[in-house]
Amino acid sequence: MKHTGADGGDGPFRFLVEDVNGNTVTGTLAGGGIGDGEGIVVLPSASTGTVKSIIDADGNTALVVADGITVSPGDMICAQGNRAQLSDQFRVNLIWQHEDPMLPSRPYLLKMGARVIAASITDIRYVINPDTQSHENAMTLRRDDAGVCNIAVASPIPYDPFSKNPTTGSFTLLDKENRQEVATGTIEFGLYRADNIHWQAMGVDKAARSEMKGQKPAVLWFTGLSASGKSTIANLVDQKLYALGRHTYTLDGDNVRHGLNKNLGFTDADRVENIRRVGETSKLMVDAGLICLVSFISPFRAERRMARELQGDREFIEIFIDASLEVCEARDPKGLYKKARAGEIKNFTGFDSPYEAPENAEIVIPTGDMDPEAAANSIVEYLLAEGFVEA
Ligand code: ADP
Repeated sequence: MKHTGADGGDGPFRFLVEDVNGNTVTGTLAGGGIGDGEGIVVLPSASTGTVKSIIDADGNTALVVADGITVSPGDMICAQGNRAQLSDQFRVNLIWQHEDPMLPSRPYLLKMGARVIAASITDIRYVINPDTQSHENAMTLRRDDAGVCNIAVASPIPYDPFSKNPTTGSFTLLDKENRQEVATGTIEFGLYRADNIHWQAMGVDKAARSEMKGQKPAVLWFTGLSASGKSTIANLVDQKLYALGRHTYTLDGDNVRHGLNKNLGFTDADRVENIRRVGETSKLMVDAGLICLVSFISPFRAERRMARELQGDREFIEIFIDASLEVCEARDPKGLYKKARAGEIKNFTGFDSPYEAPENAEIVIPTGDMDPEAAANSIVEYLLAEGFVEA
């Protein structure tokens, strides 16, 4: 007997796996139909085999699969002759549901069936005006906005366009911290077929490059209010590492904003994108075997966490340059606080834009009590003690 999904068995066979117990796989029959002995393929692994038998109980479907097939919760099982596509980037329709607006490039989770995977919005194509239905440019989506976006997920996942299958073409987005639903979405199409893109395998890798330089590469991420002393201290650390014969490079907020990030302003969305680009750039530096000093206000915890996760925990050293707003305002080396007080600068951190102090920084430098020289020495001592560099 053929077992069929909600489409009455018209479309290709799709089964979203929720649970696996030995050879018995439970989940949702999301399209098409399947009969005993038919050929199946498990995505994304592409493990193939046959269905031994099918059990229907309490509205749930269970497949008993042949030995040798690898299946995990979150997988999609398809008919061998008509499999779903795989991609890690999609054009999607989103309806934003949360009161906090979407921040492009902030990490979210995408949930499709039992699969939950890291995702970020890489581009907002347009928002649909609910009155006129016209397409409008937007920097963000707010509650109840419907928009068309590009989304990237951490690795290729199986899907169908929503027009082909409303179940395997739909998903929700969740907040990464509390797993609350922030948006619902449908897939229009995959932007790239995953089978066409391959990471170029490098003959000379990070380990080889670091060994040649005689150091463990890392990112030293300096965060703190404007004028707290990030650039001053990072510059001294750089000089001291240079004197030890180490290979470094400094990415400074102001300098990067003149080049790579010159199209970005200081709205929340732009700040997130600013940090995403700097995080990716510092990751390339680490891949080159360098100790990369990053000196950015980077006011949001979530974005610093994103930079840390990009890097891998052991290569990310967060350095909180801690000075009170009063101390920073009294220093004011660039006259920015004066301008902010006069209302000439909008979204200034500490005034009308928040600074979220780190909770678990590897190093905290209280610059109210420590001069720049002592601060730089204590950071170099940390690197020596942790084996990143040798004296
Ligand atoms: P940021 O890069 O955090 O915006 P800067 O390094 O550009 O900050 O500016 C900090 C200013 O504060 C400099 O003029 C520096 O000489 C001064 N300063 C005074 N005391 C300290 C200290 N203990 N540590 C760092 N900088 C200090």
